[in-house]
Amino acid sequence: MKIKTVRDLDLKGKRCLVRVDFNVPLKNGVITDDTRIKAALKTLNYILDQDGTSLVVMSHLGRPKGKVKEEYSLSHVKERLSELLNKKVNMASDCIGKDVLSQIEALKSGEILLLENLRFHNEETANDSDFAKKLSANGDVYINDAFGTAHRAHASTEGVSHFLPSAAGFLIEKEVEFFEPLVNNPAKPFVAIIGGAKVSSKISVLESLLKNCTTLIIGGGMAYTFLKAKGVEIGNSLIEEDFIATAEKLMKSAEAKGVDLLLPVDHLASSEFSDSAEAIIVDSENIPEGLIGMDIGSKTLKSYSDVITNSKSLVWNGPLGVFEFPNFAKGTFGVAELVAACEGITVVGGGDSVAAVNKFGFADRIDHVSTGGGASLEYLEGKILPGIAALR
Ligand code: AMP
Repeated sequence: MKIKTVRDLDLKGKRCLVRVDFNVPLKNGVITDDTRIKAALKTLNYILDQDGTSLVVMSHLGRPKGKVKEEYSLSHVKERLSELLNKKVNMASDCIGKDVLSQIEALKSGEILLLENLRFHNEETANDSDFAKKLSANGDVYINDAFGTAHRAHASTEGVSHFLPSAAGFLIEKEVEFFEPLVNNPAKPFVAIIGGAKVSSKISVLESLLKNCTTLIIGGGMAYTFLKAKGVEIGNSLIEEDFIATAEKLMKSAEAKGVDLLLPVDHLASSEFSDSAEAIIVDSENIPEGLIGMDIGSKTLKSYSDVITNSKSLVWNGPLGVFEFPNFAKGTFGVAELVAACEGITVVGGGDSVAAVNKFGFADRIDHVSTGGGASLEYLEGKILPGIAALR
């Protein structure tokens, strides 16, 4: 899908309305991780470098559910943005209305106005057309660089594009550049690694990946529903009884399509689900009664080695074990290490696997670490993301 990017717009002398994802984690009003702000800088700086432009920046923060709540004010982000851009950032008290418009009119070339949280208005998530039109009055052109919300048709991600010349920022451009081939024409062998807690949340992505991938590695809590469907003993491991039939169907589909579907062949288990639980090696597929499968075992990890190393393209979503507990992080660490060393095109998407590659220090050896959890999953499911479709 060809999308228009910020390079395709004539920005000279324009007020540029930019949707970013500044939905950063806060603790007592202090930003604990500014990755999302940093991710928007390339686009913001590019716009500021063009002749005579000014910037109007909009985002949501948290879930204020249509109410004005100080803890969700974007004023918490203003100082950090200013430091990172090395420029003064002005703050608006709202994201629409007369006062905001007069602040925008007063902006000189090179100046920046940060609008207040879009989700202080219910109309934002409702994609209310009137609200989108009011937002559009804040700029001459619209640039969307919020990949993290591109799977939502909201007023600031979709609605506004109906009223202004629109294009993607560099972040969305990069996400599309990496995800598009994985969905439509992946370089083969194409390996997909899907982990995490639940089968139920990943059925569509598994179905979609089965159309194209060479090998599908399934790990994490969701692997136990598949193992159960195969008749393997899973002890007290996580199970979604209602999805055993689905797992069976997916395995049959993999077989029919000639996709290698790899499930754990050994495990690290524990007698309780806790961060201090001792790791018990289970050297077989079957997990004894009373034990919980918490991580893949060393034989399993070894069996991934050649598959991952030889892949020409690879996507990874979801941890292979309860990596938050140090005793059960080995499998996820090992996979992160293999993915980092892989010479094919490697893409990691999804909140927890991104957290894992960051935690283990492998992020800079991966071709693309996605900034959108839900958005990257929906992309892989083959869905057209409304925020991106709007930029075609
Ligand atoms: P998801 O959001 O579906 O990607 O799931 C991520 C969560 O899956 C993480 O919090 C992991 O701790 C959890 N997880 C991974 N492996 C297991 C397992 N074997 N049993 C229970 N939870 C797991």
